[in-house]
Amino acid sequence: MRTAERVFKRGEISLKTLGLIGGMSWESTLVYYKALNEQVKIHLGGLHSAECILYSVDFARIEAMQRSGKWEEAGEELADIARKLEKAGAEAVVLCTNTMHKVAFRMEETIAVPFLHLAQVTADRITGDSVGKVLLLGTKYTMEEDFFFNRLTAAGLDVYIPDKDEREEINRIIFQELCLGKIRESSQQKVRDIIKVYKEKYEIEAVILGCTELEQLFREGEEPGVRLYDTTEIHIKAAADFMLGG
Ligand code: GLU
Repeated sequence: MRTAERVFKRGEISLKTLGLIGGMSWESTLVYYKALNEQVKIHLGGLHSAECILYSVDFARIEAMQRSGKWEEAGEELADIARKLEKAGAEAVVLCTNTMHKVAFRMEETIAVPFLHLAQVTADRITGDSVGKVLLLGTKYTMEEDFFFNRLTAAGLDVYIPDKDEREEINRIIFQELCLGKIRESSQQKVRDIIKVYKEKYEIEAVILGCTELEQLFREGEEPGVRLYDTTEIHIKAAADFMLGG
């Protein structure tokens, strides 16, 4: 029996309940749900599984708000959902998308329970590994605006973002392919080519996959020869640690 299982059975710890805000896209929310349950299984064994409440939105509506710049409205809506999750018993809120962290402050100021900030846990993980120079990939909002970038630079990281044409292309791949469950070889190659340029030109030490769908472009054994930080994996780990009381 693993130590965690023994402790759990003695009643000294209990699983905390997570509130997940998902659906952006549902393709990547599936990854959160599956991996959180797997983490509980690894640590507690047996029939243990994640205690969580999932509020999944209609992404078409949120994406339209992003495109038309209605961030305040989107922030209101997500804050309202965070409140509902807290009321329903969530002991922490996890927003399962990088982009909507642009309005994370609205959720943070609305709820009393912790908000597990994706960019912060990512910055903490990378600096913990003593990596200094990174390339940030994600939607155009995540790459171009300061809500993610500033968390990284505040942690002491030297952050590069792709140039305009590359950003447009990555953004297109995310919204027109990955969020629709399409994984194209040509897009895998394009993103690998972009990474190669920044590795050779600026000697970046790592790439931040700052979009919850981007990981789908990297097949095992076909990594681009530079360290990848998958924000989905990092965020899930932080959420699982919280859930398990660690
Ligand atoms: N899931 C993506 C992200 O992590 C993009 C979808 C969105 O705009 O929320 O940023």
